[in-house]
Amino acid sequence: MIKTTVFKDAAAVGIAAARHLTDKIKTFRPTLNKPYFVLGLPTGDTPRPMYRELVRLHQQEGLSFKNVVTFNMDEYCNLPITHPQSYHTFMFENLFKHIDIIPENIHILNGMAEDKETECARYESLINTCAGIDIQVGGIGSNGHIAFNEPGTAFDSKTHQITLADQTRRDNARFFDDDINQVPKNALTIGLGTIMNAREVMILATGDGKAAAVAKSVQGIRTSTIPASVLQGHANAYFYLDEAAASLLK
Ligand code: PGA
Repeated sequence: MIKTTVFKDAAAVGIAAARHLTDKIKTFRPTLNKPYFVLGLPTGDTPRPMYRELVRLHQQEGLSFKNVVTFNMDEYCNLPITHPQSYHTFMFENLFKHIDIIPENIHILNGMAEDKETECARYESLINTCAGIDIQVGGIGSNGHIAFNEPGTAFDSKTHQITLADQTRRDNARFFDDDINQVPKNALTIGLGTIMNAREVMILATGDGKAAAVAKSVQGIRTSTIPASVLQGHANAYFYLDEAAASLLK
């Protein structure tokens, strides 16, 4: 069952998410076998307040990321990493350049790789080498996708290349001068199986544009047409919602 918590607004969701991660990072005790806390991270508008709070906690309250390894969920294909809308750029601008994470501990899929299949296999095996993801944070698409796992993706999928759904390209056109033609058609993404293997999953959703996807994911049928509904089968899946995103829950 997916557990939901409702907060007043998007800022409150971000602060609560950041504080939860901070508790986990601070109580983590590195050992020889498990030297790092492994965090799965999203991009998009929804997590921005969470990243702002994490940066503040680092700068003002001594939160350190020295024991943290990160894996981003996805990246566009064939968009140079220096492009302002690449997820590499997003992560450095919104988080990594402001904190003390060890650069080698940052992992983001290489959407520029010539051999996408090999790149996906490399990434999945790197996650396993790091003993799996401790907490996977994610957003949710208006069509119910998590990471870039679009409707129809197999529940046991691992890191793979996908074709973006038209809905997703329309939703993301706002980052590309409102021009859908500039939105890449393909991306690399961790799979639903990769997400299900995480020890804990925290999905953030804000705004009424997400309300239908949230209600179907949490209270609808567990079906691959609503990818986030896979989490109904996860023992530790949490949705952090603002009032608008929670408005269609019964
Ligand atoms: P958003 O994207 O946070 O920009 O709404 C979420 C998603 O598509 O997963």
